[in-house]
Amino acid sequence: MIGKNTNFEVHDPEVLAQARAVLDACNSAREMEEAVLAAVARNEEWRGKRCINLLAPEAPTSPTVRALLSAEVGIRAAEGHIGSVNRWFAGTQHIDELEALCIELLKKVFRARYADHRLMGSMIGNMAVYTALTQPGDVIMSVAQPFGGHSSNLVDGPAGVRGLKIIDVPFDPVELEVDLDLFRKVAPLVRPKVVSLGLSMTLFPFPIQAMREIVAEWDGYIYFDGAHQLGLVAAGLFQDPLAEGAAVVTGSAGKTFSGPQSGIIVWNDPDLTVPITNAIFPVLVATHQVNRVAALAVSAAEMLEFGQVYMEQIVRNAQALGAALHQRGIPVLGAHKGYTHTQQVIADVRQFGGGIAVAQLLARANIITNKNLIPTDRPEDWDHPSGLRMGTIEITRLGMREEEMETIADFIARLLIEKEAPANVLEDVIEFRQPYQKLYYCFEHGLPK
Ligand SMILES: *Cc1c(COP(=O)(O)O)cnc(C)c1O
Repeated sequence: MIGKNTNFEVHDPEVLAQARAVLDACNSAREMEEAVLAAVARNEEWRGKRCINLLAPEAPTSPTVRALLSAEVGIRAAEGHIGSVNRWFAGTQHIDELEALCIELLKKVFRARYADHRLMGSMIGNMAVYTALTQPGDVIMSVAQPFGGHSSNLVDGPAGVRGLKIIDVPFDPVELEVDLDLFRKVAPLVRPKVVSLGLSMTLFPFPIQAMREIVAEWDGYIYFDGAHQLGLVAAGLFQDPLAEGAAVVTGSAGKTFSGPQSGIIVWNDPDLTVPITNAIFPVLVATHQVNRVAALAVSAAEMLEFGQVYMEQIVRNAQALGAALHQRGIPVLGAHKGYTHTQQVIADVRQFGGGIAVAQLLARANIITNKNLIPTDRPEDWDHPSGLRMGTIEITRLGMREEEMETIADFIARLLIEKEAPANVLEDVIEFRQPYQKLYYCFEHGLPK
């Protein structure tokens, strides 16, 4: 196809054609600028003020974190490691100060000996880990997608690009946890260099300590890709992967951690410092958005002050939402073990038309979720999976508690069980959302009342 069809686009060609039509209708570049600004404003008005945003990887940032993303320091170039001799450019003394504050804050928050602040995404962190800990051709073990595994640790992501052979970590489809007995049998047969525990559908903790003991026999590493659970880990909830024996932890700063979208990496072993930091610079990042580093540092301080209450409420809300949906006849995974230990709630929506139809239906009533593979799906079903993933980060930061989860479950049940038209539910969703416009668990607004 590619090469023969000169009009090939990976993006939806209709949406691109619409954009071309908008630009063609403009009389000046100034009007083109206005078209961009108008799209931004429409999103802010809709998603920012009128929707119940239940996307599990999304978090609203505090006013200070958002403001820092347009700070002057964001136009400065500061590649390399901290310190005047290490930097390519002169004039970086205040940038050094601020980046060092970020690193030291991250170490404190994650109770880690080492941290790096330069990852522009958790994906870059995965690549840094595979670059540092593996050679092409090595065997790793990783969790398959129907159990929540993320592409970054599989063949079509950084692990695949590194040329690794990837074997599944056995997973129990009912308990939604690693099948440790089977792992004990399989792992010694393939002796993985790295066992990657990275789930984008994540409900319950991993037996890191037991797995570490098994792979220690051939000096294998446990790598915890805590993209989603990072805020929970910072707050001392979920689990403490470094203390339990993970060699390295990465994660997204913009999921439960609620900072600027980017990545975090922490580790304890001094022998890993050179391989990991050399993989970050000069391999994966050069100018690394110092404004984002400042925002990350502030979100780490917020986590120290508010993390525990904030994250506990996120999990309580997720458990309440899971129970409320289940009671209304919408099957939720993990019901026999309290639904979840994270911000996520996973519904099996096969009987309502499947993940994509349900996500699109809910979006017409301003309830934003995503389709998701679940253990009964095959990996190749990724575009029409049976599950629906929801998360409680944003609704919690807006000040909602367990009671509001009942209301949200009512809206969803009206759409899925009672088959009410989305247009009917829409007005009620907008009205419900209207009073929740202020963000809490930050220095500006403190805790919700
Ligand atoms: C979201 C996610 C990533 C990618 O994180 P980004 O910050 O978006 O780059 C990596 N691993 C897992 C398990 C994820 O869920």
